[in-house]
Amino acid sequence: MKVIAVRGARVHNLRDVDVDIPRDALVVVTGPSGSGKSSLAFDTIYAEGQRRYVESLSVHARQFLEQMAKPDVDAIEGLSPAIAIEQRTASRGPRSTVGTVTELYDYLRLLYARVGRVHCPGCGQPIAAYTVQQIVDEALALPERTRFAVIAPVVRGQRGDLADRLARLAREGFTRVAIDGEPYDLSAGIPAVDPDAPHHLDVTVDRLIVKSGVRQRLADSVELALALAGGRVDIAPVDGPRVHRSERFACIDCDVSLPPVEPRLFSFNSPHGACPECEGLGCGACDRSRLRPEARAVRLGGLAIHELARLPLADALAHVRDLDLTARERAIGERIVREVDQRLRFLVDVGLPYLSLDRPAATLSTGEAQRIRVATQLGGALSGVLYVLDEPSIGLHPRDTERLLGALRRLRDLGNTVLVVEHDEATVRAADWVVDMGPGAGVRGGEVVAAGTPAAIASDPRSITGAYLSGRRAIRPPRRRPPARAHLTVRGAREHNLRGIDVAFPVGRFVCVTGVSGSGKSSLVVDTLLPALQARLGGSPERIGAHDRIDGAHHVDRVIAVDSAPIGRSPRSNPATFTGLFQPIRDLFAQLPESRARGYKAGRYSFNVKGGRCEACEGDGVKRIEMHFLPDVYVVCDACGGRRYNRETLEVRFKGYSIADILDLTVAEALGVLAHVPALRVRLEALRDVGLDYLTLGQPAPTLSGGEAQRLKLARELARRGGDRTLYVLDEPTTGLHVSDIDRLLHVLGLLVDDGNTVIVIEHNLDVIRWADWIVDLGPEAGAGGGRVVCAGTPDDVAECAASHTGRALRDARR
Ligand code: ADP
Ligand code: ADP
Ligand code: ZN
Ligand code: ZN
Repeated sequence: MKVIAVRGARVHNLRDVDVDIPRDALVVVTGPSGSGKSSLAFDTIYAEGQRRYVESLSVHARQFLEQMAKPDVDAIEGLSPAIAIEQRTASRGPRSTVGTVTELYDYLRLLYARVGRVHCPGCGQPIAAYTVQQIVDEALALPERTRFAVIAPVVRGQRGDLADRLARLAREGFTRVAIDGEPYDLSAGIPAVDPDAPHHLDVTVDRLIVKSGVRQRLADSVELALALAGGRVDIAPVDGPRVHRSERFACIDCDVSLPPVEPRLFSFNSPHGACPECEGLGCGACDRSRLRPEARAVRLGGLAIHELARLPLADALAHVRDLDLTARERAIGERIVREVDQRLRFLVDVGLPYLSLDRPAATLSTGEAQRIRVATQLGGALSGVLYVLDEPSIGLHPRDTERLLGALRRLRDLGNTVLVVEHDEATVRAADWVVDMGPGAGVRGGEVVAAGTPAAIASDPRSITGAYLSGRRAIRPPRRRPPARAHLTVRGAREHNLRGIDVAFPVGRFVCVTGVSGSGKSSLVVDTLLPALQARLGGSPERIGAHDRIDGAHHVDRVIAVDSAPIGRSPRSNPATFTGLFQPIRDLFAQLPESRARGYKAGRYSFNVKGGRCEACEGDGVKRIEMHFLPDVYVVCDACGGRRYNRETLEVRFKGYSIADILDLTVAEALGVLAHVPALRVRLEALRDVGLDYLTLGQPAPTLSGGEAQRLKLARELARRGGDRTLYVLDEPTTGLHVSDIDRLLHVLGLLVDDGNTVIVIEHNLDVIRWADWIVDLGPEAGAGGGRVVCAGTPDDVAECAASHTGRALRDARR
């Protein structure tokens, strides 16, 4: 077995880890939250792979190498260039769309430029560009002995010096002309014309008969006509309709000629393609397409590029497959069609058939964005790469997990190693190899507890993951609460794909909103219910999803969204500042006798203001280095060694700990040191209860995962609870959580409900769904195929519902 051999890894909490990761395999790293999975997969293996990649680049790129922290590891052998597909993403421009980030739009632009059928933006008739050869062949295809003229349509309805023009034509030897359809012989003199009126002027270049031997003369005449009339020529049989031909894309009737049909014509980021009215920003005459009329008039299979970009991906795929191309178009376009087809298929395969290419990237959920990156990598078809992924199952209904696994297996079968940090049971079972980290979190973790096939893990008595896999341990649903007496009811919800539905949420209960990805869960809960209630309670949300009204809103006094958005991009923000721990800690330090003697007030212990902090890094503890082509890199401040404070401040100690030492404590350790202060204890206990006892108090916010950010917000709310009837809304709170952590989280959410609050969670995890008092299942499918309530009721009710995918998953899991 070829392996990536890691020896002596000590990053973060890793305890001198030795582990062999099989190459060209699908490997899942699992274990409790905080046990060290990301430290191993991302911060050790990926970081070293990326360093070696940079090392292979230009001298310019290499100068940053020294500044890129080398992971604390003795050796890694068998490593390939590494690509990370993480949840935390670089910011995307406002013009990015699904089409641009997947590069599919680039392929479509090429396809439209090469084989698109051009139409007149004025009158809509098809127009084509002809070569001299084609025009000649077409004329010679007229019946034998047909008499016809080759005519140059020189002037079309313009004003101007027609008299000069006629004189020049006469000098050049042309005699037969027609002015506004009236024939004249220039050898008989220049006819008088009204100089102020617009005129049509046709010049007869040649008159011929279809017979063998005229080809060369005809070709010369056609060329001459094209030269005289700016790329246009008419073939006029004596008894028959004239045909207009142009060597450019031009409409004779509307007298417009089109810019060259090149890929850039279809780019709304380019002045060649952008709608001149909205300048490519969307709003106005261009029907939100952001494209100029000429671009919108090019069609493929009857659709303009912006119309194709608006279709759900599954429909776009069908459209591309059904394209009826001529032999010539096929020869030119086949390869491009294949690329488009394959990339669309990958997006559909990872469970995103409902998205469209024109969907702004900024409106995608984390899970959607991540699965798009998986599909894009599949489209790029690299091999010999190490892919490191962070929980790709986020946002995915159990029904669709199998498709995602199919995509990951395909990535592996291309000759890549796929290393996935994941908790999802189906994914763990599907792995070729499992690395189980633990046993606990933080200082109680950092070891490889077990490694092997899923079956070997399941039978390993030391592995908690194995205990759940084998059923030795399970999350037991609680006693279900009685039916609620009051409800919050959204009526006529119509945002995005919602079909004007009425949905009742029981008050004072634990409610789970389920359905396949794209069925409308966020549209209903996050985009409609939440902001509508916030507005009623005096808030001013940016947008409220379309709906008729909300009944029963008086049953809640407060609404709190506990989402997974980052809590701050600044390294100054951390769990201590965010949960309000830091102020009482600083007060505690200010009251120490040593502080009083020195005259240090609480402000001295802040790293935001001058006084106590290290001025070299202004209290950040790190310095940021901007990398042009890679994410910013942070290096530890050399003046304070990352301690953030100056020496004098660090001399003041509480129970032997300096303020910097306190910030380095984990929540669990801090409980031992600080629990005697009630304001600190309640906050620390809340952090412990949401499963964050491994976090250090001062860990910089940018290094927290989405799941940790969400649990941090939940902890802040827990510490504040009491009195008000609050509605808590959580979007996939199990993100980043191992089954053993989910058990604890459910317990905490249960406490909130027992206090009389309402909890609404959007979830895919079957343990959570089974735990709910009430389920609202949306769907049945995604996008236009969803947006309805498939069933609502207790988990037992939903498990009986034949039409519900969630019901089926619950039934399957029961067996
Ligand atoms: P997992 O991926 O298993 O949830 P992590 O590898 O993220 O766990 O974390 C393992 C331990 O390392 C935790 O105690 C965590 O707080 C700590 N840790 C993670 N990232 C950092 C960091 N950037 N700086 C300091 N400690 C960190
Ligand atoms: P879920 O939360 O169940 O995954 P969503 O409510 O996010 O589903 O999406 C439901 C439908 O609405 C999908 O077809 C999705 O593409 C569409 N949609 C969601 N957000 C937006 C948006 N900001 N702009 C356009 N369409 C959206
Ligand atoms: Zn026209
Ligand atoms: Zn410093």
